[in-house]
Amino acid sequence: MSQPAAFTITYWGTTGTFGNALLPGEVTDKVVAAIRQLVEGGNLQQLRAGPGLDDTIRALIEQELPLHVRSTYGGNTTCIEVQTPDALIIIDCGSGFRELGIALAARWKAQGDAADRTAHVLISHSHMDHTFGTPFFTPYYNRANTVSVWGPKVALDSLTAVLNPDSALSRIYFPPTYDLLQALNEFCPVTAGESWQIGSTHISTHGLNHPGGALAYRLENAGRIFVFATDHEHVVAPDPALADFARGADLLYIDGQYTRAEYEGREGIGDELPTSRQGWGHSTVEDCVKTAVAAEVRRLHIGHRDPNRGDQHTADFEAYLRRLIREELLHLSRPDGSCEAAVPHEGLRIVL
Ligand SMILES: [Zn+2]
Ligand SMILES: [Zn+2]
Repeated sequence: MSQPAAFTITYWGTTGTFGNALLPGEVTDKVVAAIRQLVEGGNLQQLRAGPGLDDTIRALIEQELPLHVRSTYGGNTTCIEVQTPDALIIIDCGSGFRELGIALAARWKAQGDAADRTAHVLISHSHMDHTFGTPFFTPYYNRANTVSVWGPKVALDSLTAVLNPDSALSRIYFPPTYDLLQALNEFCPVTAGESWQIGSTHISTHGLNHPGGALAYRLENAGRIFVFATDHEHVVAPDPALADFARGADLLYIDGQYTRAEYEGREGIGDELPTSRQGWGHSTVEDCVKTAVAAEVRRLHIGHRDPNRGDQHTADFEAYLRRLIREELLHLSRPDGSCEAAVPHEGLRIVL
């Protein structure tokens, strides 16, 4: 009998730095590319108007077209839902947190009296792409819900500074204040190196190299391990402390915003002119691969996608990532495929 899931992980936001919604012209380009590929593949002749046409088209595009043509990697900033056997844990509150809030409110309503209306929010750091979804999370406004927030004290203090009705900054950035967020139960400050339990899940933290600091989180339950490590700039690769922290993870989600050439300012991203990104607090995909392989993680997800990187460019970046992993495994005489690598898209669900 297969082991029950320790973690069901859903990505609600994987974009770094700033949200990037698809532009109208980009949507049109996708429609053009999709139709062209279906015509070139001879896939349209079989379609006939009538009942079931939508289902037939949907099946066809999912079968014939790659994700970056038929869909998008998404444009919301960091938010990851982790359902454990006995707790709902949410990591970071970027714009994806708003989307999760809408889904969660509907989910709990549908479950009626059986709903466990509690959640634990872990915040990596205070930067806006990780926190500014907070006042737009609708479950906060329902007193029937209970949400505890864990994170570095500076991150919790920064939220208090802009949401406390008595603060000089209240209503400056967001209309609502804490007194309206009635589900907010408690703020729990945590530091690097600390560990604690949320239900049956053991959580530990690690300090990352990022302007203002950031915390990585390691979640362990029933022998399964999920490590979330963004935002972080490698100083050396592999990063020995991060590799130790992530050791043996079933899934490592890590900040690999740039290629080496982009980081060093030899190449631009999208339409942006080349500029050095050294000291900005984010890593290269090359360094992430070295740390992930050194940590012997089974699956690597490169997150904090640069908002200038469009879907086609991200698909190329993902192909480059897979080549890097194969080369690093070969270099260390490790079996090909012993570490799977991907750039996760919004809506992707992973069961560990
Ligand atoms: Zn960030
Ligand atoms: Zn940051």
